[in-house]
Amino acid sequence: MIEKKYGILIHGGTRSNRDFDGDLKMQISSTLKKASCNAFNILDKHSLEKEENDKMNNELSCAIPAIDAVESAVVDMEDSGLFDAGPIGSYPTIEGKVEMDASIMSGKDISTGSVGMVQKIKNPIKLARIVMEKTDHVMIVAEGALKLARLFDIEGDICMPTDYNMQKYNRFVKDLGEENDNVKREYPNNHKFIKKYLQKNDDCHYGTVGAVAIDREGNVASAVSTGGRAFKVPGRIGDSAIIGAGLYADNKNGAVCNTGLGESIIRLCLAKTACDSMGFHPLSCCHDSSNPVNRAMASSSKAIELLSSRFGHDTGGIIAVDSDGNFGASLNTKSMPISLFTSSMKEPKVAFNNEEYGLLFSNC
Ligand code: ASP
Repeated sequence: MIEKKYGILIHGGTRSNRDFDGDLKMQISSTLKKASCNAFNILDKHSLEKEENDKMNNELSCAIPAIDAVESAVVDMEDSGLFDAGPIGSYPTIEGKVEMDASIMSGKDISTGSVGMVQKIKNPIKLARIVMEKTDHVMIVAEGALKLARLFDIEGDICMPTDYNMQKYNRFVKDLGEENDNVKREYPNNHKFIKKYLQKNDDCHYGTVGAVAIDREGNVASAVSTGGRAFKVPGRIGDSAIIGAGLYADNKNGAVCNTGLGESIIRLCLAKTACDSMGFHPLSCCHDSSNPVNRAMASSSKAIELLSSRFGHDTGGIIAVDSDGNFGASLNTKSMPISLFTSSMKEPKVAFNNEEYGLLFSNC
């Protein structure tokens, strides 16, 4: 009997620099390893329980472990404050406040939930899961999302960006003031400045977190959480809250999660496009039954080629798992830290760029 593969792949957002300060690189590596390890343990526990269950006819403790796994990984990354996600790590808007987006999707029945512009929530991904499982809706934003969080008792404190992010914000406001003679933080007057500023300051680039997983039953899932683009207009919602753009999951094909320039990713419906291209349908260029390929890897590369061809380099990254349990990732920025832990590995591994991904995916 062929052992069904299971595992988790997570990312900590695309970045425009290839080299990280040594300490930061270590912190990112260990946080990603810990998050993928915790998530993998959920998948592994379920797999063991399933074996027992098959022998003894016991109840399984968790219905769709792939969903629990992606949620757990994203919660760990939100809590770390190291990424552009969750109340501590998120970049502030142009008005200095944090507004977060998150979404989650189950490939078993394509159920999904998302939240946008949320404040005062410790773990936006938990609220997205509540939207998916406890409401009849797919997306809830702003005040309504906060009310929902209150109802389910997951309202947090006021979101305060880290000192590190506030320093970046204060530097930005100072430069903005010098450029404009006034410190009026009105986006319409300043959007050209902001665009150029972000191009010049590559430490203000992205950093969203995301995860894809497959469990032993072949259920796939995807989750994503972000503070969105640095110094964005209040009320702006990015790809991370848009199903089919920031993420997609369908057991027939696989699961996908994107990061990068949300406005470009939304225009291409990139997650759904990539997920469809993993499918076994006549239009899919990935399918050749005589020569099975890693469809997650092939479709990740194709999605990033598409993104680059329409919007240029330095616009995004993707992680994916196909319905056979193969994992893949690609990016057109300098780096995107990822961590992979599958049932054929003894411990989680991390990689930071396309060359390192090649090694990682060929050895697992
Ligand atoms: N995609 C996110 C957004 O545009 C940003 C990121 O991935 O870092 O909101």
